[in-house]
Amino acid sequence: MYFNTSLLHGKNTAQYADGATLVPVSQSNAFCCQSMEDLERVFSHKKPGFAYSRIGNPTVAAFEQRISELEGGIGAVATSSGMAAVSHTLLSLLVPGDEIIAAGCLYGGTIGLFDDLERLGIHTHFVSRLDEESIRAAVSSRTRCVFGEVIANPALSVLDIRAAARAAHTAGLPLIVDNTTATPFLCRPLSLGADIVIHSASKYIVGSGDAISGVVVDGGSFSWDRAHLPALAGFEKFGKLAFLMRLRTDIHENLGGCLSPMNAFLGTLGLETLGLRMERICENAARLAEALKGAGIPVNYPALDESPCRDLCREQFRGLGGGILTFRTGSAESARKVINRLRYACIASNIGDIRTLVLLPSTTIFLKNTDRQKADAGVFEDTVRVSVGIENAEDLIEDFLTALEACQE
Ligand SMILES: *Cc1c(COP(=O)(O)O)cnc(C)c1O
Repeated sequence: MYFNTSLLHGKNTAQYADGATLVPVSQSNAFCCQSMEDLERVFSHKKPGFAYSRIGNPTVAAFEQRISELEGGIGAVATSSGMAAVSHTLLSLLVPGDEIIAAGCLYGGTIGLFDDLERLGIHTHFVSRLDEESIRAAVSSRTRCVFGEVIANPALSVLDIRAAARAAHTAGLPLIVDNTTATPFLCRPLSLGADIVIHSASKYIVGSGDAISGVVVDGGSFSWDRAHLPALAGFEKFGKLAFLMRLRTDIHENLGGCLSPMNAFLGTLGLETLGLRMERICENAARLAEALKGAGIPVNYPALDESPCRDLCREQFRGLGGGILTFRTGSAESARKVINRLRYACIASNIGDIRTLVLLPSTTIFLKNTDRQKADAGVFEDTVRVSVGIENAEDLIEDFLTALEACQE
């Protein structure tokens, strides 16, 4: 089965009551059992079933199964947001005194989370590249995991997943990757050696900007039982399910960042058109990037011939470059003017929508970050981030070139 077919006809699709083609929304907090013994069996995981929607819900479970299948994992836990997916994953693996090695250019919220973890006694070593050399230099006896983004938002640098996985595994560490911007349409990181994949499903997965949501997928390849992570104490008995059990039955359940049934439904619905949208979005982004380049604008798009990431795009993403590009206008003032002149692009803080969205990252999503963090993430005062939508490329190109021309005068 090819990608788009598998989204509609893969495992875990269309087995719903009354022949419904879409997963029913189980908008219920609790689920009644036939007997008290039954409820006891559900609670003690001796019987499959649902008790309370913070812990498990049929609509949420359907979404988890679909995304796990798509990423090639052994299981998934859906969360209330992408940040909940990142934080629940790290809190499942780390205790005070532990350390993380992370790529320097990351989503601003994730950098902020690493600051919060610092206050809990969990230290992050930022390295410019997740390769063997820098991991060897940063690793200590307290290092527990390696973290990176497949396409960093908004630096747009592409992670060499195979190399990062090799380096992490040489050090005996799991590789966690945030695949929000690449999506399973561009690549399936678990098949390239990553151990855990995280998504902000709020973006390309829901697709229409209609539900904040997140998900964590475990690839089942990492030997948690042999990793001796203090945070997994007591979970070794679950073998390769140790991380998922710790996440689901401890941290996720106790922190309470569960996904709502309605948002799980929207995520499942979004997934079915992910391939179709991504085909169009990647094509539009590539055409817009070429047009901006042709007009002499400094543009960053990983699949462009002059991008240092082009070869990795060919190896990992079939030559595609995703849906985000950035360009620079020369000053914050001219960047604001260009943005304000655009007719079609919405000025909004989001990515992965079917609409084209633009913003100035430096004064919005990176407002709380230091200048050093901004520079690492490729965020300068005149950097404009564009999340390209599914409009006709001709209209988008005309809109951006007209706005840029008007502001150059
Ligand atoms: C948006 C985003 C997040 C956070 O997701 P939310 O759903 O907004 O909490 C994490 N990582 C990346 C790469 C993102 O783009």
